[in-house]
This record gives sequence, C-alpha cells and structure tokens, in this order.
Amino acid sequence: MDSKRQMRIEDVAIYLRKSRGDIDIDLEKHRLLLIERCKDIGANYVEYAEIGTSDSIDDRPAFMELLEDIKLNLFDAVAVSDIDRLGRGGDKDWALIEEIFRNEEIYIITPEKVFNWDDESDEMELDFRKFIARMEYKQTTKRLRRGKIMGAKQGRWTNGTPPYPYTYNRQTRQLDIDNVKYKVYRRIVEMALEGVPANKISWELNRLGIPSPRGKKWTNVAVYRLLRDKTHLGKIVFAKQEGSGHKNRNTRPLKTFSEDEWIVIDGLHQPIKTQDEHRKIMELLAKRRIVPKAARSGAFVLSGLVYCRSCGYSMGNTRNGISKKEFLKKCQTRDSLGNRTCNNPGVNSYAIVKGIFQQLDEYEREIKKRGEDMDTNETGLLKVALTKKHKEIEKQRGALDTLIEMREEQEITREKFLERKEIREFNIAQLRNEIGELQDRINQREQTTNERKLKNIREFRDKWGKSKSSEQRNQFLQTIIDRIDYQREGDNIDIHINFR
Ligand SMILES: [Zn+2]
Repeated sequence: MDSKRQMRIEDVAIYLRKSRGDIDIDLEKHRLLLIERCKDIGANYVEYAEIGTSDSIDDRPAFMELLEDIKLNLFDAVAVSDIDRLGRGGDKDWALIEEIFRNEEIYIITPEKVFNWDDESDEMELDFRKFIARMEYKQTTKRLRRGKIMGAKQGRWTNGTPPYPYTYNRQTRQLDIDNVKYKVYRRIVEMALEGVPANKISWELNRLGIPSPRGKKWTNVAVYRLLRDKTHLGKIVFAKQEGSGHKNRNTRPLKTFSEDEWIVIDGLHQPIKTQDEHRKIMELLAKRRIVPKAARSGAFVLSGLVYCRSCGYSMGNTRNGISKKEFLKKCQTRDSLGNRTCNNPGVNSYAIVKGIFQQLDEYEREIKKRGEDMDTNETGLLKVALTKKHKEIEKQRGALDTLIEMREEQEITREKFLERKEIREFNIAQLRNEIGELQDRINQREQTTNERKLKNIREFRDKWGKSKSSEQRNQFLQTIIDRIDYQREGDNIDIHINFR
C-alpha cells in the first residue's frame, strides 16, 4: 500500500458510473477491478452504480445517496476507476464533493493509489487530475460535434431530436414528415404570415386541443422557436449552443452562439417552408418584438414600475384618447387558452402618483429618524460577518476560562498553560482588531447610503415640479423607486413601494 502512515480503511463504497463513450463491458471491468482492490486492502465494500452518465451531481441519484451515506459515517473511503467519475464539470459540484469528503475524512481509492485529503501532495494531484479530466471532457465534446457535422455532410441526420413536424427514421437515417403534425405546422406558418402574434397562435392551438411538440400546452416561446427554425427550409443548423441545454446540469453554462456563428448546411430532408415565407415571418416577428418594447420605454409616467400584486406580472399603461389622461390597464395576464386569469382592475395613474408622494414623505422621515441604513445587501453581509466574529471571540474567551480552570485544578502543567494561553490571547486580540475594522466599514457605509438616499429624494422633489413630460417624470421616479406592487378592490387601492 502506498501510504506513509497506517490507514485504517475498513468500509469502502464502490462508485460506478459510465462516462461518455463507455460501454457496459467497461463498467463491469471497472467493477471487478475495484472489488479486487478492496479485497487487497482487506476492506468491506458496498456498490453504488449509476444508470445514467450525467456529470452533474443533481442528475446522479446513486451519487446523491452515496453522499448521504458518507454523512452518516458509513464509509472510510470511496473507490472509483478514475477521479473523474466523482465529478468533473462544474466547479460548484466539485467544491461540494471536496467539502463532504474532507469533513468526513473520506479517502479516495483508485486502481493506482489511495488519495488522502490530509496529504498536501495528494491534494495537488487531485487538483491536477480534475484539470485533466475537464480538458478531456472538452475534447470529447468537440470531437462529438465534429462527428455530427461530418455525418450530416455525408447526408445523415445527426442533430438529435428533429423539430416538429419531422420525425427521425432509423432505417434511412433521415427525417420523415408526420402528416398530422405537418398540417398543424403549416397552419402555424400561415397564421404567422397573416401577422398573428406568437401568443395568439399558441392560444388558438391550445383551444383546439393540439398538443405542443413536447406533448404539453403551446406557449408563445414554443411557437416562436418553431417559426424561426431553419430546419424547415431543408437546412441543418449546428452549434446553436455549446454545452448542454439541460437545466439541471451545471457542467457548463449554456452558451448561445449568435446567428453568424451557426454552421448551416443543406440537409437531405424535405423543406416545408420557403425562403420567402421564412423571411416574411422573421420580419413580422421582429416588428412585433420591437414595437411594444419602444412603447414601454418610459412613455408613461409609470412605465416599467408597477406590478400586479395578485399575479406578479407587470401592469401595462394606456392613455385616454380624448383627455390624454394616463391609466394603468386592467391586468392582462392570460392562461394558455388566452383567457384573462387575473381580475386586478386598472386605475388612473395619478392616483398611484399621489400614493407615491404620501409614502415618500413617510420614507424620508423614517430614514432621518433612524439615521441608520436599511440594510443594503453589502452592509447586511458585513453585519453577518460581524456577528460571526463576535461569536468566535466568545468561543475564544470561553476556552481561555476553561484553560484557567484547568490550571487551577492542576490538570495541566504551567508550561502548557502559558503556551496555550498565549495562543488564545493572540486570537482574541486579532479578532478584536477585525471586529473594529468591520464596525468602521459598516458605520461608513451606513452614513453614505443614508445621505445618498436623502439627496436623491431632495433632487427628485426638486425636478418633479419642473417638468410635465411623462417620459421625464418616469425617469425621475426610476431614480427613487425600484418597483411598486399594486392591487385594487373596488375603491380600495393598495400599493406597496420598494424605494431604492
Ligand atoms: Zn394580475
């Protein structure tokens, strides 16, 4: 055994996971190798075998179970065919593994050696192996992508699940068209060409009881995605994204390439949308997407500020055609069939503005009176750190008391006592310094934030009267308000304001 000191490894968890490209025989080979290894060191073993190949911890039930069992103190070591079987993608995952393994003092056994967390050279080797594993992973992904593109150039469909209404034909390795779904698809295209927006198309499909590509309800996003897909032009598009699009996989952040980074090649499948149709649809969608955004960007006094308190969605604004008075619109939230689901009514925008001024007075008084910060994130963190330091200093003081008692009871020698006392006192002095520093930083921050807030409010009041333009007033409001949650029942208007 390759250990410097005597390790007592009695119970081992054998963790088995296929890596991409492994086959069942590989896994069995690893299994036998690791069992052999456990027998060599005379340890008992339990097997944890993963069914999937996911790199992310969240997608590995056997590993989750293993971590729980490790915390229950069931094992001295975990045996794996290679370090990368534990994890290799996300640093977050690895940090968690490392923390648990370290805390529970779990050794890692591979066919070549036993890793020990307390040993510095082992730790470095672990880091290095982790690095190599990640490099290999990158290479594999690259090779996979390259293989897919080569295959497609040879006339095969290699791009995974094909988009609606295509289906993959295993015999021809090409795409077929599902006739029923084809009719739905063409209906979607025609509606889009008539200028029907994506959300209305989705409502219509749901009303007709037609399931979405994933067998659920259609959404505007699903419709939009389908409409812009170039596969329907007879093309195959690669590298829309790097890494996995799977939500639960933290292996790598999902990177979306911009359209000019796509690799588009001609496929052999039948096109079901013309270039001309595609261009028109894209134009119409672009218009739809741009227009409402422009309208939202501050044209109304309450633009972008008010949210519905019952459903959480943002409230729209409108202007009366004759009086030009501004109103918050009745909440527009709809379900998948396009029915309104929220009954929160609208209101004259200046009723809200009146409420803002009332609450602003109160808010200003409160800041002045308190003279202290309302816990911005950062001061919050500093305060948490401060509490921790106070607790630590208590602990050190307690330890010092115990030490004195021990000396009084003559449980320890004078030398030992002095030596330990010195350490405790040093720690206490250091903590005291740190506490002073933290306190200074908190005081400073609180003063500046409060003053800045008061200054912002003064400036806001000053500017408000000088302009009647809704656009400008909206800008002024944005400087002091983060969001307003609104609800109305009859004449009862309830607003909750988050000031900046
Ligand atoms: Zn609502």
